Amino acid sequence: MYDTLTAESRQRRLEAPRVGFVSLGCPKALVDSERIITRLRSEGYEISPTYEGADVVVVNTCGFLDSAKEESLEAIGEALSENGRVIVTGCLGVEEARIRSIHPDVLAVTGPHQYEAVVNEVHRVVPPVHDPFLDLMPEQGIRLTPRHYAYLKISEGCSNACSFCIIPSIRGRLVSRPLGNVMREAERLVAAGVKELLVISQDTSAYGVDLKYQASEWRGEERATRFQELVEALGSLGVWVRLHYVYPYPHVDRVIPLMAEGKVLPYLDIPFQHAAPTVLKAMRRPAHQERTAERIANWREICPDLCLRSTFIVGFPGETDKDFEQLLEWLQVARLNRVGCFKYENVAGAASSELADQIPEEVKQERFGQLMAVQQEVSRKLLGERVGQQIDVIVDEVDHEGAVARSKWDAPEIDGCVFLNGETNMSGGDIVRVRITHADEYDLWAQPMES
Ligand code: SF4
Repeated sequence: MYDTLTAESRQRRLEAPRVGFVSLGCPKALVDSERIITRLRSEGYEISPTYEGADVVVVNTCGFLDSAKEESLEAIGEALSENGRVIVTGCLGVEEARIRSIHPDVLAVTGPHQYEAVVNEVHRVVPPVHDPFLDLMPEQGIRLTPRHYAYLKISEGCSNACSFCIIPSIRGRLVSRPLGNVMREAERLVAAGVKELLVISQDTSAYGVDLKYQASEWRGEERATRFQELVEALGSLGVWVRLHYVYPYPHVDRVIPLMAEGKVLPYLDIPFQHAAPTVLKAMRRPAHQERTAERIANWREICPDLCLRSTFIVGFPGETDKDFEQLLEWLQVARLNRVGCFKYENVAGAASSELADQIPEEVKQERFGQLMAVQQEVSRKLLGERVGQQIDVIVDEVDHEGAVARSKWDAPEIDGCVFLNGETNMSGGDIVRVRITHADEYDLWAQPMES
């Protein structure tokens, strides 16, 4: 039986019920959290910034890697000890038995995308209070990102079968949102002051494949629900548009001219994960035979300003010294602008966990260090070439020391910053023209043009 507060007792206290929210994991999980919070706010709930002030705490978990699962279990434990009334949701929610064996006192466990189920559980634990004033909410919903940028989720799930990944078994196959639906959300965000849209999904370039590119109405016209049409439509909104999780399928070539024309940011986040064909094959990566180094060279001819970000896994089972050398050489040829690196971890339920030739931890660590050193050198040179250039930056934060901004080549949270020391009269979301004065291997420093 749940320990509930009755609607009547809350009515008597004339208080809105308060929900604490802990959001872990990737930007896709963040979007799920935003949806749950938007729904709860629309029903009159308030979001509590502290455990003590909350009537119940929702923990949105991540279940991608074992280390992320551990972090999620710790977060559940912390919420239980600080508050005691905890509802679990998100990717780790598919492992309800494991959660309950460690934390038997959680009130409910729901899985990823189960917005209705989470909200129902919140209703059971802390019933909503009807108050027309509390029901008011901003038209664009509630976002956990700063006001000037927002994640735009264009699809759920994934129809690929990468051997190290359990996302398809947790989140299901690709389900795309019709183009008109995505564009109306994008328009609402822009009308609410968003200046940068970050397009996310598990496989952005596969957008619409599941719908067979079916036509969808936007601004009185029928448009195909397809990657290129979506990027063209987003590019017409007049805000920064950044593309994440794109795989290098041939049709991706068609959006590079839009980047060269300045319609969307010259930025592509492509999780290559490796460069050696044998490892890519064992990883079962999509579009792994697309001669990527050549493609990148062609893209840069069309759009010299293009910034490429990627992630790599070192120490995948069976990765030989030769495979790893091939990856390092490829990185030096491809000259990617931003690189993240992970040491391979076995994940329960992933096909790669069963592979022979698991790589010892110390070898993974050594390869990780080598890869990062190679990439730091590439990045230091590329950023050094930017010194003296005039560029636009978007301001993220301002404090007494100055402003922290980002260039078109930097996504929030994962890439570098542009520091504007001493510029305290700016506001988050300002887009200013600056001249780059200094660079290191990660960040840039700049001065506004007018000073
Ligand atoms: S593309 Fe591969 S790694 Fe990404 S979600 Fe799909 S199966 Fe997982």
